[in-house]
Amino acid sequence: MRPATELLAYEPAPGDPWQPVAAPLYQTATFAQPSALENGTFDYTRSGNPTRRVLEQQVARLERARAAFAFASGMAALTAVTRLLAPGDELLASDDLYGGSYRLFSRLLEPRGIRVRYADLSDLDATRAAMGPRTRLVHVESISNPLLRVADLPGLAALAREREARLCVDASALSPHLQRPLELGADFVVHSATKYLAGHADATAGVVSVGDAALAEELAFVQNAEGAALAPFECLLLLRGMATLALRLERQQANALELARWLQPRVRRLRHPGLESDPGHALLRRQAAGAGAVLSFETGSLERSAALVDALELFTTSVSFGSVRSTASLPCRMSHASIPPQVRRARRLPEDLVRLSIGIEDVRDLRDDLEQALHVVAQRGASIEPWPAARG
Ligand SMILES: *Cc1c(COP(=O)(O)O)cnc(C)c1O
Repeated sequence: MRPATELLAYEPAPGDPWQPVAAPLYQTATFAQPSALENGTFDYTRSGNPTRRVLEQQVARLERARAAFAFASGMAALTAVTRLLAPGDELLASDDLYGGSYRLFSRLLEPRGIRVRYADLSDLDATRAAMGPRTRLVHVESISNPLLRVADLPGLAALAREREARLCVDASALSPHLQRPLELGADFVVHSATKYLAGHADATAGVVSVGDAALAEELAFVQNAEGAALAPFECLLLLRGMATLALRLERQQANALELARWLQPRVRRLRHPGLESDPGHALLRRQAAGAGAVLSFETGSLERSAALVDALELFTTSVSFGSVRSTASLPCRMSHASIPPQVRRARRLPEDLVRLSIGIEDVRDLRDDLEQALHVVAQRGASIEPWPAARG
C-alpha cells in the first residue's frame, strides 16, 4: 500500500459493535470492569483509552514502529524519552534545535544531574568528537530548526550504536509521510504532532515511536506514571488531521519550493533543503521523500526583517509551522527566544532570520503578498541586498 492510502486504511473502531467509519470519541475517564477480580482491556484513561489506542496504532503503522505513544504536546513526548536517562548519563544534542527542547535540556535535565553537550550533528566528525563514554542519548532534528541543516541519520545511528547510545530523531519538520527515521536506524522518533500531523493549528500534541519491545514497555510505564498522555478529544483531532497529511504536505511542499526559488534572488541566504543549491539537498534526498514546507532567510537587519513580517498580509505572524495556513516568524524573538542571546550568537543564529511556513493557499497569492511586503521594505529605503545561498 502506498503512503497516501495508508493514511486512510486503518480500522477506526476495533471491537465496536456499530462499525463506525470514523473513530469514535471515548470521552470517559474510567471504564467499568467485568467483575471485582477481572480486568477489562481499559480501566482508566490515563493508562489507556480506545480513541488514543486507534491513534497510537496508526502512528506506529506509519512509522513502521513496534509501538507509538501520544502525549499532550511535543515537549511532553520528548520529556518522556529523556525520562529513560539517569543522573550521570550524558545527552548529546544538536546545537541547532527547537528552543523549547533547549530549555528542557538546559533548565530541567542539567540541574537534575544529566550532562548535556551540544555539537553540530550535521557533521559526523564533530559528533564523534563530542561523544563521551557516558553518552547515552543522541538527539537530533531531521531538519534542524531554524537553520534547516540536514543530519545524516544512518551515520548518526551507526555512531550511536558503536558507543552504546541511543538515537532520538525529532522528525516534526518532515512527518512520517516524508521520513521514517526508525528505518534509518533511529531508536526513538519524536514528533511535535502540533505541526504537520495535526496540520491545522488546532491541537497541541506529541508522539513517540519505538521499534524495540523493551523501549516500548519503558515508555508505556512513563506515559502512565507521569500522566501526560494526550486527551481523547485531541486524539480525535489528530486522527482527523492525519487523514489528509499527504494531500496537505504535497501541496505545501510544492508551494514552498516555488516560493523558495522566487525568493532566493530577492533576499539574503535563503535556506530550504528542497533547493538543489542547498548544502543538505543531496543528503536529504537519500533519506526522505521530500523537504517539507519551511524556509528561512536573512535580510541584513532585525528592523528590516520585522518590517517585512509586519508588512505581510496573508501570512499570519505566528510561531510554529506545519499548518494549512502560511505563517511568518522571527525565530530569535519567538520560538527560540528561550535560548539566551549569547548562546544564539555563539551558534551563529542570525537575529534577523525570518522563517516562513508555507500553507496550502494558492501560491500566486502567497507570492503576491511577499512581493508587496518586499516593496514596502524597499520603499522605506531599506532594500535587501540579495545574497544567493551558493555564496553563503
Ligand atoms: C514545536 C516543536 C517542538 C515542541 O512541540 P510542542 O507540540 O509545541 O510541544 C519540538 N520539536 C520541534 C522541532 C518543534 O518544532
